[in-house]
Amino acid sequence: MPIPQKIQELANKVRNAIFGKDVREAIAEALEESGKTSAEAREITEALLDGSFDQGLLDTEIREKLQQLEQDYAPQLTDLGVQLAHTMTQVDTVQVKADNNASMYWQPPTQLPARKDHANYFFDTFGSNADGFINNLFEPLRLANISHLTRTSLGKDASGTYDVWRYVFTPKKIRKTLILGAGIHGGELTGILAVYLFLKHLMEDWHKYPQLAYIRNNVRLVILPIQNPWGVSQPHPRVRQNSNGVDLNRNFDYKWSEYAGASTPFGHDYKGTAPFSEIESQYIRDTLNTYSDATAYLDIHNLGSASHDYVAYNSINATNQFIYDDLINFLVRDIATPVINNSQQDTPSAYNYSYHVKKIVSGNPEWADGRYGSTYGSVELTKALEWFGNIIIQHARQDVFTPNEPFVIETHFETGTTTITINSTSLVEINQFKFIFTPPSDGILLFEGVVTVKSSDPASINTFNPFIGQESTDFQYGFSGTINRFEVYSEGDKRQTIPFYSQTYLKRDKVASVGIRAKTTVGTVTIYRYRGRITFIPSEKADRLKVYSANTGTWVQEY
Ligand SMILES: [Zn+2]
Repeated sequence: MPIPQKIQELANKVRNAIFGKDVREAIAEALEESGKTSAEAREITEALLDGSFDQGLLDTEIREKLQQLEQDYAPQLTDLGVQLAHTMTQVDTVQVKADNNASMYWQPPTQLPARKDHANYFFDTFGSNADGFINNLFEPLRLANISHLTRTSLGKDASGTYDVWRYVFTPKKIRKTLILGAGIHGGELTGILAVYLFLKHLMEDWHKYPQLAYIRNNVRLVILPIQNPWGVSQPHPRVRQNSNGVDLNRNFDYKWSEYAGASTPFGHDYKGTAPFSEIESQYIRDTLNTYSDATAYLDIHNLGSASHDYVAYNSINATNQFIYDDLINFLVRDIATPVINNSQQDTPSAYNYSYHVKKIVSGNPEWADGRYGSTYGSVELTKALEWFGNIIIQHARQDVFTPNEPFVIETHFETGTTTITINSTSLVEINQFKFIFTPPSDGILLFEGVVTVKSSDPASINTFNPFIGQESTDFQYGFSGTINRFEVYSEGDKRQTIPFYSQTYLKRDKVASVGIRAKTTVGTVTIYRYRGRITFIPSEKADRLKVYSANTGTWVQEY
């Protein structure tokens, strides 16, 4: 603690005093000042010690002031609290939406079980026949959403006992149509439940999920919830075939005659006596005809054996295969050793008929029962709904199913040390020019180019025929009966360059060949150069290649 300034001055005065009287006076003054300072210090100390500052009083004042503040601001704080809670809820909702948007995949909420021996079950699957599914699931949903859901009976099934129902969900604006089928095989009930649960969420909480909101506003769903009601109505584990013992999913007119299957009714995959011999398959065919502009037909199945995590049968080279591949890649994220089967089939099934004959993109997704606990249990239904629901959603997102891109191939030949010489008087293929490929989809092939030729004989007439052919019954050179349209000629022995062109409609999966045939009337003709351009334009509709006859002024049916 520093010495007070006054005392310091007096101390200096004592130090500097020369005369006795001054010295004594200075000492006295300093002593007096010191005493005064110490007295003040003592007073302050004593005041502090005897509690002149009342801490209790201070606490009370502070408390009162805080209470007052609290009272003044309480309403505002309550408001803020409510607002905060509301904001947090919104943040949660936005987060759910953001998660869903981020993956594009729908994560359905946990589903209740559909079996009586599980708590909180919503439906007794084991104890219900086809009418039970309709009357206890689909009908209550329709009656509660009468402005969006309608139903029609297509007629009785082959047994004459059960109606085959068609439900239609109509969105705000019909921008596209998706056809859903389930229960074509009587024992496959998970698919029926999944279609119901999807429809239920579409009716009741579509606004929570952007994927469902999209369908709600844009996509008409045509639903055949039980395509084989007799099979579904037989005692558990039900019957795969209809009442005539026909596997309806082998009764369609796609490679029906080539398919063997079981030889007797009720054999596993007995195909029936003729394509569409069964009324139930006719109802499916008629639905595909009625809604022929559908984006897709999805026939939902399930497997008794739980040998795979995800199974989706699809047609060969199907343009929607990426949907399954991408979805499976996403879903297997939490499965350590996924087992996947998305093999392609060539059976007279509903989806192959839809894809190959009706040109409606299709799919046959399967659910492996028991992969996630009890069949029809909560976890099973939640996972099955995630699987089927996202397949429906992803197909609903598609506008045009021609992801196969057009492509162009240039092919050319220059005569070097080898030359190509033709001496035939009937058309022969020039092997070096022949190009063989398999179209990745149905489509139009354009073939055009030039050949540079020289004949040995001035009297010769040389013919060049650009051909496009395809194997089996579709194989043809140019167009049968009108082949001269695609012939070009050179005459005499001068070197000439001749342009050519041709085009035809090709089917997917079948080997096609493109090339030149040539002949000469006399002597030999040598080909020096050849340039060809092969353009493939994917198209699911054969009538996009049109032929107009200038002779008759009419359109010609060539394909
Ligand atoms: Zn099946």
